[in-house]
Amino acid sequence: MTSPTSPQSPTSPLARLADLRADDLPVHTGRTLAYVFDSGLPEVDRVAREAVAAFASTNGLDPTAFPSLLQMENELVGFAARLLEAPEDAVGTVTSGGTESVLLAVQAARDGAPGVHRPSMVLPDTAHAAFHKAAHYFGVEARVVPTGADHRADPAATAEAVDDTTVLVVASAPSYAHGVVDPVPALAALARDRGIRCHVDACIGGWVLPYAARLGRPVQPWTFAVEGVTSVSVDLHKYGYAPKGASLLLHRDASLRRPQLFAWADWPGYTMLNPTMQSTRSGGPVAGAWAVVQALGDDGYLELTRKALEATDAVVAAVEEAPALRLVAPPDSTLVAFTTDDTCDPFTVVDEMQERGWHVQPQLSHRGRKASVHLSVSAATADHVPELRAALADSVAAAVARGPVEVDPGVAALIAALDPAGLTDADFDGLLAAAGLASGGGGGFALPARRAEVNALLDLAAPALREAVMVAFLDRLSRPAR
Ligand SMILES: *Cc1c(COP(=O)(O)O)cnc(C)c1O
Repeated sequence: MTSPTSPQSPTSPLARLADLRADDLPVHTGRTLAYVFDSGLPEVDRVAREAVAAFASTNGLDPTAFPSLLQMENELVGFAARLLEAPEDAVGTVTSGGTESVLLAVQAARDGAPGVHRPSMVLPDTAHAAFHKAAHYFGVEARVVPTGADHRADPAATAEAVDDTTVLVVASAPSYAHGVVDPVPALAALARDRGIRCHVDACIGGWVLPYAARLGRPVQPWTFAVEGVTSVSVDLHKYGYAPKGASLLLHRDASLRRPQLFAWADWPGYTMLNPTMQSTRSGGPVAGAWAVVQALGDDGYLELTRKALEATDAVVAAVEEAPALRLVAPPDSTLVAFTTDDTCDPFTVVDEMQERGWHVQPQLSHRGRKASVHLSVSAATADHVPELRAALADSVAAAVARGPVEVDPGVAALIAALDPAGLTDADFDGLLAAAGLASGGGGGFALPARRAEVNALLDLAAPALREAVMVAFLDRLSRPAR
């Protein structure tokens, strides 16, 4: 007989965890093209898992208590500094993720300009949502500059938007939604001329572009080698292929990072001293990332980048081959976005891909841009390119056979007229139920396997209504399980 705590028991926590995982997206099949980044190297994943487990209970709160964590952090920053062509004086911090890196870049820019009464930052409309979260948290006004037909930031319009309240100019390398690199030299120069910081958000591309350049691919300048770039964010848990919970924020010099460091001594407990938003910081993600970077090294990343870029080329070819699909922009790295013509809609293509075992991400229409499908292509996908191409061709054929989702014109008019500010909880219950997202009346939720209808409805809503509906949805999802 096995006791409930033995790993073999079906009621042991580990057995139950395995059961719980059954409904999740797979993370190591090369077929999940959003949320996860897969090296396709089981040995690297094993090393990562063991490193995380070994350090899960250590605490980065006090670097003198756990010097191993400080050492690993400094080595990770050193590796990244070389990759990002940072000067000798550059410094950096391991954070919990891209959002935290972006939040801290904005917070440091705000607090680095204490004389500015109502600080603002200027960003392209393609900048990551994390900057808007930073605006919300830190009271820094986000001045959004439209991007043009090439989806890249517009330096002239950016210059116009800058004034004496501006503490930060933002560029992406590349943007998440369209995978293109902003004109960093022009943006950084205009920031520098005005004595303003310039942050390059390379959260998703920062570990790819340097190796792409070494492989002879054309890469526009975007690193610290560009004068005027004052900080760069790059996620280890994306194309660093590290376990989740690790990103880096680098500053050109220590004085730029200073406002990011927080100390508090005016209470009866220990003097709190933190470089990030967290105080207790698990050593797990730091050790996991460090182990992966050690295991892969420059040669490993070069090879993984070669594979990911080859897979990206194949995806691009497949999109170009499908008469119903249009590439949004030629990818500058490993991110692909495509739209459809009127014979089908992108949301149905996403559902059809899901039915064939491929997870790709829908992107709703925005500011005149059509809805699209996003793929973050990782190295592991390179081993499945023929299946991916077949799945995409079959999915498009199936989506064309179904035709685009038709929303009743009355419903469309209703959505267009809804003001989220005037909606009550009961209204949201009704809306979620009508969209098939909840049973309504607080009776739990059911997510349909096919989401094209829901996405088509959301697509008709203005961003503020989308946000309100999604917040209402999240609120109803997160209730205690007793
Ligand atoms: C993923 C991403 C972020 C946010 O990173 P998280 O790790 O999800 O918090 C920020 N910027 C860009 C460009 C990204 O791709």
